[in-house]
Amino acid sequence: MTVAEAIRDAAQRLSHTSDTARLDAELLMARVLGTGRSEMLLRSMADPAPAGFAELVDRRAAHEPIAYILGQAEFYGRSFLVNPGVLIPRGDSESVVEAALAHAPGAGRVLDLGTGSGALLLTILAERPGLTGVGIDASLAALPVAAANAARLGLAERARMLRGDWRQSGWADDIGRFELVIANPPYVETSAELDPDVRDFEPTSALFSGEEGLDDYRAIIPQLGKLISPGGVAVLEIGRDQGDSVAQIAHDSGFSTTLVRDLAHRPRGLILR
Ligand code: GLN
Repeated sequence: MTVAEAIRDAAQRLSHTSDTARLDAELLMARVLGTGRSEMLLRSMADPAPAGFAELVDRRAAHEPIAYILGQAEFYGRSFLVNPGVLIPRGDSESVVEAALAHAPGAGRVLDLGTGSGALLLTILAERPGLTGVGIDASLAALPVAAANAARLGLAERARMLRGDWRQSGWADDIGRFELVIANPPYVETSAELDPDVRDFEPTSALFSGEEGLDDYRAIIPQLGKLISPGGVAVLEIGRDQGDSVAQIAHDSGFSTTLVRDLAHRPRGLILR
């Protein structure tokens, strides 16, 4: 079988379980050939298909996310290392990054709560050279991934990754104040039915947040007054139906709020002042 035929067969097979079957097949083939996808497509597709491709296709057919198979994901034009210890950065969060960049000062400190792979924090630092940042995560599995991403992007000097758990009291006491606080906390209702790709592979600790999906906002928001510098803002990612309920939690803590919408005009974030 040739490379072209193997890709076609794989795309056909993956079309039952993936919305991006052809792309997935090409990415997996490029990985086995040790080349980039566009480079591969320019080469002769009549070469014999390499051994090892079928095994990766099997994994994808069993719903394993392409990002975990490849060990990396694209976010805001940059590549981030990922593994099953961290949530895969999503295009949805790019709207939150846009809003944060629009409110980021030229110089100062950024705090990322639940940094995971570090994608949000490191994107902001890469886009704004005058900023330094701290990423916090409760997961010991996440911190080395975030640190490795900081190093890969040349941001190790400007980003510190620390263990911290906002479900424990006192977590916000010793880290100082920040001009910008960002967070993509878990916000999925425990009863929600997720895609098998998400449900069976991504860390539940990064997804679920109690019966209403609000437990983490309820823990974080009352502490933000301690963490935000005078004149600073917090930009929180929210689920598309959570605008009113998260705004209510913010108002109860004395913040005013502005909704952030994504490119499809759906609620995606909340700015707190
Ligand atoms: N948008 C994510 C999903 O459902 C949830 C991310 C989160 O809980 N922070 O796939």
